[in-house]
Amino acid sequence: MTLEVRNLVGGIPGRRILNGLSLTIGRGEVHALMGPNGSGKSTLSHMLLGRPGYIVESGTATLDGTDLLSLPTWQRARAGLFLGMQYPTEVPGVDMADVLTEALAGDAGSSRERVRSSMLVEAERIGFDARFLERALNVDLSGGEKKRNETVQLGVLRARYAILDELDSGLDLDALRAVSRRVKQATGEYGLGVLAITHYNRLLAELTPDVVHVFVKGKIVASGGPELATELEHTGYESYAALAGPDEPASRVDPDDPFAMA
Ligand code: ADP
Ligand code: MG
Repeated sequence: MTLEVRNLVGGIPGRRILNGLSLTIGRGEVHALMGPNGSGKSTLSHMLLGRPGYIVESGTATLDGTDLLSLPTWQRARAGLFLGMQYPTEVPGVDMADVLTEALAGDAGSSRERVRSSMLVEAERIGFDARFLERALNVDLSGGEKKRNETVQLGVLRARYAILDELDSGLDLDALRAVSRRVKQATGEYGLGVLAITHYNRLLAELTPDVVHVFVKGKIVASGGPELATELEHTGYESYAALAGPDEPASRVDPDDPFAMA
């Protein structure tokens, strides 16, 4: 029972962003993914969820044995993959209870009333004011409120694996503690496997990771225990950049040299 990514290569048209990423997350495990801005962390999340505009060139991704990459986004979600987005989308005119009811349609106990009460329970668990749940999805919410909205959704949907893309951004310290505690509880309660993308050790204080990965230029260049996150906070990513190789693979063939060997 794992979320398994093997040698994933791809990006956007004309630009390769992931350069062979491999990762195996077991149920109940927390993996942290830390890396510099622009290294491709969010691209990984988009590629795993099948966001339009992102291209998989090669590699595989399976969720408890189900091939994700051949599925449309909604079926990847139904297979058990949740994405807490770095920049949650505002959806005017659509409320969260309707979204979650639709997402769970067909499951036992997925009536709108059940979803509503589950939303209230989840909001309470992270100290989130229930009146925010009445607004159109994410509309007019602060950055931190959106992140708490994502956490409520995660709790209601009970996905098997969650990619949490900078869940800590915009959260004050109390909210950060409540949110990371809730996610950690989910790993024990129903075996949620977590990929937490973050720059900060603060998130990891409550959400104690089993594995920390250093991600540079589209691939993982080092993995270790929680101590790696502490080290990174002191040293930064610079010493790891060299491990990822040159920025652009330099062409060794001069197009104007008639004697060059291709
Ligand atoms: P990270 O999340 O690690 O900060 P991203 O995955 O967001 O990095 O982006 C990696 C690189 O790819 C960045 O240089 C970014 O500008 C570029 N990029 C990602 N998605 C797109 C896109 N849809 N269009 C153009 N550039 C993109
Ligand atoms: Mg990002």
